[in-house]
Amino acid sequence: METRIYKIDDCTVCHDKICQAAEIIQQEELVAFPTETVYGLGADAKNPKAAAKIYAAKGRPSDNPLIVHIAGFEDLFQIVETLPEQAKVLADKFWPGPLTMIFKKNQNIPYETTGGLDTVAVRMPNHPVALALIRESGCMIAAPSANASGRPSPTLAEHVKEDLEGKIPLILDGGEVGIGIESTIIDLTEEIPMILRPGYITKEMLERVIGTVKIDPGILQQDSLARPKAPGMKYRHYAPKAELMIVDGDRADVIEKINALTAEMQACGRRVGVIGTDETKIYYRGDLVLSIGSRADEDVIAKHLYKILREFDAGNVNVIYSECFHTPNIGQAIMNRLLKAAGHHVLIAKGNQGETKIV
Ligand code: AMP
Ligand code: MG
Repeated sequence: METRIYKIDDCTVCHDKICQAAEIIQQEELVAFPTETVYGLGADAKNPKAAAKIYAAKGRPSDNPLIVHIAGFEDLFQIVETLPEQAKVLADKFWPGPLTMIFKKNQNIPYETTGGLDTVAVRMPNHPVALALIRESGCMIAAPSANASGRPSPTLAEHVKEDLEGKIPLILDGGEVGIGIESTIIDLTEEIPMILRPGYITKEMLERVIGTVKIDPGILQQDSLARPKAPGMKYRHYAPKAELMIVDGDRADVIEKINALTAEMQACGRRVGVIGTDETKIYYRGDLVLSIGSRADEDVIAKHLYKILREFDAGNVNVIYSECFHTPNIGQAIMNRLLKAAGHHVLIAKGNQGETKIV
């Protein structure tokens, strides 16, 4: 299949391209499109055959449900069985935006879209191209991230092309996304709402609006007995091809430890990648040293994470060492994705010494 790419700078100017994309969705086919979080791979959410094509194109396990994207709060009434009162308050505050809410589904949403679950995940994206596509198609659009399963999520149309060229008919290229990390997922089917995936909208931001919110214990620690409730969180995800290890500790200790590990690896003929920051990049001696941004701007760190993981793939490194990014707000989401990419391998640096731990 030929994959066309349409550049969309302005939805009004590019209205005919949006219309063509909408027709493809109506014809049970797939369209990749930008959202403010990452690029999504969309299909008509109410059509089981269309939804099934998403799993085939991505190589996605069939029990990993999709998020349904809507363009107006009232669309919810068509697809949910019960609408908890927190939904309106959260939507008023955070929609359109990077918050996905989980509800009990009704029969309008097929099990192909929900990975066999009786619940449905819904969000209203804050991106003009995504909203125009939903409105023009007249469909609700089921869309997971538009990467091949297991690869880092796409933050540029080129990333989608890398993973899905030849497998889907159209990519809408809206440039680089704004946030770069997937939406926060909150489950509203529990008595106390529960975060199933951390994202740009933090626990504190949610609690200011709806009171107490829990965090799914299954997402905090890999060796926890609790299984994560969002099925996607159990898969090794977001992973670059090279082995990735996170090094935590004081700044000087981390630099010293990463350089010592780098020298050991290079002595065995291995190519080493390092994820540093604008502040530390010059101190590293890896073969490919990339800055994820400045520690002063955690939004930039989030935005660059997946892009940088893909750059290491292109740079053919065998092993990657990364600094830790425990920043106050979106930091929890950044570390959640980085830990998954690293298979939870963290080394605590104490000078050139260190101890490995699985967190
Ligand atoms: P992606 O957009 O690729 O991050 O995939 C959507 C994510 O939403 C997956 O990781 C799913 O586990 C999660 N998700 C979607 N629907 C549900 C649901 N009904 N219950 C729990 N998690 C869900
Ligand atoms: Mg994904």
